[in-house]
Amino acid sequence: MIAAWKTAGDFTEAPTRPTAPSPRRAPSGPIYNSEKPRPRYLMNVTLIPVTPFQQNCTLLVCDATRRAAVVDPGGDIDRIAGEIERQGVTLEKIFLTHGHLDHCGGAGALAAKYHVPIEGPHPDDAFWIDQLQAQSARFGFPEPEPFSPDRWLGDGDTVSFGNVTLEVFHCPGHTPGHVVFFSKDERLASVGDVLFAGSIGRTDFPRGNHADLIASLRNKLWPLGDDVTFIPGHGPVSTFGQERQTNPYVADSVLARSAV
Ligand SMILES: [Zn+2]
Ligand SMILES: [Zn+2]
Repeated sequence: MIAAWKTAGDFTEAPTRPTAPSPRRAPSGPIYNSEKPRPRYLMNVTLIPVTPFQQNCTLLVCDATRRAAVVDPGGDIDRIAGEIERQGVTLEKIFLTHGHLDHCGGAGALAAKYHVPIEGPHPDDAFWIDQLQAQSARFGFPEPEPFSPDRWLGDGDTVSFGNVTLEVFHCPGHTPGHVVFFSKDERLASVGDVLFAGSIGRTDFPRGNHADLIASLRNKLWPLGDDVTFIPGHGPVSTFGQERQTNPYVADSVLARSAV
C-alpha cells in the first residue's frame, strides 16, 4: 500500500493507442485506502499525465528525505516542474522505462533544468532514443532536447533516490530495451507500456516481439505477486492479480488456451 496517492490535474482521457483497446477510465479519488495502517511511509506517488498521449509521468517522493525521482517525463516539462515546486521536493534522478517519445521526450530538458542524471532504459533501446527528433517530427511534438542516459540499466540492477531503492527488470517485447521499476516495500511497479489495465503493449514497432512481451509478463512480472499494484504508461492503475484474472490478452485462462 502506498503512503499517499495523488493525481495531478486531469486524469480522465483515454490514451491514444491506435491498435490497443482503450483502458478503463481512471478513478478520480484515492486509489489506496488504509484498511491496514502501514508501519512506515516510504514513498509518495503522484501521476502527472503528459503529452497528447496522456502518458503517466510519475513523481516519486521519498517520504523521509523529500527527495524525488521522475519516471518517464515524456513532455510538458512545465507541468512536471510545477508539481515538483508545489510539493517542495528535491529532484534527484530521472528514470526511463523505454525510449518512446511520449515517455522520454522531456528527459533531456528536465535533466538540464535540474542538473540530475537520467537512468535507464536498457541499452537495447538506444536506437529509439537516437531517433527522438524523428519521432517528434512525425507526431508534431515540440523538438526534444537530445540526451543520452547517464546510466543504462539491466536485469537485476537497482536504482535509488532518497532512502528508496527500486529493483529493475528488463522486460522486452514492446521495445527491446524496456525496463520495469519495482518497489518491494510498496508492492508497486512502474511498468511503462508492457501492461495496461485490460490491455498490453503494442508489439508492432521495430524490434517489438509479442512472444518476448508475454515472456516478460509471465517470467518477470507475475512472480512479483498478485498483490502488486502497477502504474502503466497510459490509463488507470491496476494489480497484477486483477490482470491475471480479467485481462483479455494475458489472463491466466487466455494464456493457458493459447498454449494448447
Ligand atoms: Zn511505448
Ligand atoms: Zn507510451
